[in-house]
Amino acid sequence: MLEQLTDSFGRRIEYVRLSVTDRCDLRCFYCLPEDYRGDEEPEDWLTFAEIERLIGAFVALGVRRVRLTGGEPLTRKHLPDLASGLARIPGLLDLSLSTNAVGLSRHAQALHSAGVRRINVSLDSLRSERFKQITRGKLDKVLDGLMMAKAVGFAPVKINMVVMKGVNDDEVEDMVDFCIEHDFTLRLIETMPMGSTGRDAASHYMSLEDVKTRLQARYDLVPSVMPGGGPARYFKVAGSKLRIGFITPISQHFCETCNRVRLTADGTLYLCLGQEHKVEFRPLLRGGISDADLLDEVQNAIAIKPERHEFRERPQQIVRFMAKTGG
Ligand code: SAM
Repeated sequence: MLEQLTDSFGRRIEYVRLSVTDRCDLRCFYCLPEDYRGDEEPEDWLTFAEIERLIGAFVALGVRRVRLTGGEPLTRKHLPDLASGLARIPGLLDLSLSTNAVGLSRHAQALHSAGVRRINVSLDSLRSERFKQITRGKLDKVLDGLMMAKAVGFAPVKINMVVMKGVNDDEVEDMVDFCIEHDFTLRLIETMPMGSTGRDAASHYMSLEDVKTRLQARYDLVPSVMPGGGPARYFKVAGSKLRIGFITPISQHFCETCNRVRLTADGTLYLCLGQEHKVEFRPLLRGGISDADLLDEVQNAIAIKPERHEFRERPQQIVRFMAKTGG
């Protein structure tokens, strides 16, 4: 390893969220507009060879974890091939996936064989009708995908639930019981003002502090930890194996411990989910940059990572949808 990647605020950067497409086969109302067709053309996307080269540079500089995300990563053709290429990079210790699980029953085995070990599945409702209203998709497929993920050996399987007032906040207890029953980990997330859709959904924002207080009336929540490098604050439900993570970008931001950057499908590196600071790597990769210069460019990029997002102070600021940046 050459050096650690450290930003100008002293934070070690060891995690890349890698968006492999900005397209998605669901249309969660708080994430993507119904008529969204994708900004980027597939020819603009980095090829697998380009991605592996770029991630190789990050890993040489100390990145240890990569999460495949999107858009919906399972809609990118031959994703297991990319996963196995990444899993072979020496020094990359943790390859994980965020998915809506619509296509997971078909791809779970191949992804696991390719070296993906941890998986996060977005699931905002366990009620078919409501699930359809939120996502425009079918709950059955997602549940099939989840069960397949468990069957082929992904561990842990984490459920990500965006908790929204008046939409699904009455289902948190059901989700807790579902996760206890199936041995999943639950992560509750606050709605963020990402893009016009995220801002429109802001009226459904609720602080997870309130949700936690409510859960404490029914469950005994004991502070806990969970490996994974994420910003969730975990609690164990006493008397069960379940851990619940609270991800609170709005009510209690965690920027001081931010260890990550985000690479979009077209090779743009975003240094913060809630800011516009970015560096475009595709022209460099296609312009024949040397390995040594590529390492320098990665280090220069990390140097402009901003201190924090401003979702609260400047909610109008981020025009990108979550699916574009890579959630
Ligand atoms: N398609 C994959 C999935 O469903 O996990 C990966 C991408 S998706 C954009 C990643 C996560 O971002 C999902 O859990 C989704 O619920 C969340 N998300 C999207 N827009 C959001 C918003 N405005 N606020 C909070 N979470 C959001």
